[in-house]
Amino acid sequence: MDAYSSQMNRLIAELSRLPGVGSKTAQRLAFHIINMPKEQARSLADVIVTARETVRYCSCCQNLTDQEICSICGNPERDHGTIMVVETPRDLAAYEKTRKYNGVYHVLHGAISPMLGIGPSDIRLKELMQRLQGDVKELIIATNSTLEGETTAMYISKLVKPTGVKVTRIASGVPVGGDLEYIDEVTLLRALEGRREL
Ligand code: ZN
Repeated sequence: MDAYSSQMNRLIAELSRLPGVGSKTAQRLAFHIINMPKEQARSLADVIVTARETVRYCSCCQNLTDQEICSICGNPERDHGTIMVVETPRDLAAYEKTRKYNGVYHVLHGAISPMLGIGPSDIRLKELMQRLQGDVKELIIATNSTLEGETTAMYISKLVKPTGVKVTRIASGVPVGGDLEYIDEVTLLRALEGRREL
């Protein structure tokens, strides 16, 4: 990489820190960027900084938002008595794309994994339990069908049972080991409709 200027090397080094970007891709992206119109490069840099500074977690569901409360939690048309628990904002986006779910969500930002040393206090469970003190009639657990997702579902179910809130788990129409964000909408809907009580 010494063939390039130091600014170019810096750009390549920063890009290669992104997930899934190896050194070859980083070089290709860097060349693309330096050949962009200056205005476009400025706009790209600007949106990265602005997004990093303004995007935060919704104080209610922990979804990503620019506001204190996200647009789903702030929507009076949604059924706030039904909460779907997902692992990541991308899973939430997958269910939103179906346009068939009218409840609200809770994003855990991870799943319990004893193997990776991720315990219940490392995900947004405390925030979920606080929400259950309100008027909630059903909690739909839509964590992934991986070992971690199942462990998390079991844990939440045990935790919530004493509160009397109905706890359901999406059907295994979602393939075992499957990541929600890659599953098609029909399968997601079938999994939601076929949910069973835990
Ligand atoms: Zn929210």
